[in-house]
Amino acid sequence: MRDVIIIGGGPAGLQAALTLGRLHRSVLLLDAGSYRNDPAAHMHNFLAQDGTPPAELREAARSDLAAYDTVEVRAAAVDRVSGVADDFAVHLADGSVERSRRIILATGLRDEVPDVPGVDELWREGDLVAHCPFCHGHEMAGQVVGVLGAERAGHLVAMMAPVAASMVVLADGEPVDEDARAFLAARGASVVEGKVERVERSGAGLVAVVEGEPVALGGLFVGPTSHQAAPFAEQLGLATLPSGGVEVDVMGRTSVDGVLAAGDMAHEASLPMALAAVLVAAASGLKAGAACVQSLL
Ligand SMILES: Cc1cc2nc3c(=O)[nH]c(=O)nc-3n(C[C@H](O)[C@H](O)[C@H](O)COP(=O)(O)OP(=O)(O)OC[C@H]3O[C@@H](n4cnc5c(N)ncnc54)[C@H](O)[C@@H]3O)c2cc1C
Repeated sequence: MRDVIIIGGGPAGLQAALTLGRLHRSVLLLDAGSYRNDPAAHMHNFLAQDGTPPAELREAARSDLAAYDTVEVRAAAVDRVSGVADDFAVHLADGSVERSRRIILATGLRDEVPDVPGVDELWREGDLVAHCPFCHGHEMAGQVVGVLGAERAGHLVAMMAPVAASMVVLADGEPVDEDARAFLAARGASVVEGKVERVERSGAGLVAVVEGEPVALGGLFVGPTSHQAAPFAEQLGLATLPSGGVEVDVMGRTSVDGVLAAGDMAHEASLPMALAAVLVAAASGLKAGAACVQSLL
């Protein structure tokens, strides 16, 4: 029986393990080896780590954890979690079962990008198709930057206007009313009507083909749909918010006693959305780890 099993070895889970390890709590961290920012070669917007490859950050964190004897980090996938506070059972994909008094879920989200040919491939390659201006906006500085779909375009155009040379909204068949057009025009953005047939790499940038006509871009923002990466919140009956995030309080406690959640999968109700960033995920892992220590006293 360990004190805590952490499921997830991204920044949230790794930091939670460090916080618990420093208080000599027995911890098993299970990591299936697939991370939300796998497509990104470099991560940004993290003090002193701007531009670090995400895998390097995780490796450094695992190496920090090696100094703490009570922490075990294991590459393993989990199928199911059951039980109640002080007696949780974590069923691994290899058939074994591990037990703990507390659970920290840090399993992250999975993204589904719009179903336009070429978008998924370029998203996975990571350098030209992105979703977050805070993470990747500066890398598109001085370029003609596209936004796929009209619905979120106003917000993205307004955020990126000082960074990009100009912006192009690929409406992709979505309506753009007069007010939206005026808003976009005032920020120097043009609108290309019509369905986007495909996007493909071209030189250092990409080309979006809209009804046979090529639109040359230096980068493209898309709005992925995000889902919980693992089924454990459902299995444990945790309350969720309309965002799909697991509802947590400021310390990462969920609606079920003994279960905490951290990182992208968790959503504090007072925030308009789950804040998805590496530094925020690590900070929430620290809070969940600290809350676990308190609840074990
Ligand atoms: C393309 C892209 C680029 C990004 N770039 C940046 C950036 O530049 N800067 C920034 O701050 N943020 C960036 N983000 C956001 C950032 O990736 C997330 O905020 C961060 O990774 C969240 O960390 P996490 O620990 O919650 O989840 P993750 O890092 O996704 O980790 C989830 C963990 O859960 C494990 N897991 C899931 N299911 C199971 C299971 N069944 N069994 C065992 N383990 C399981 C996974 O293996 C993994 O270890 C980017 C996101 C994307 C999509």
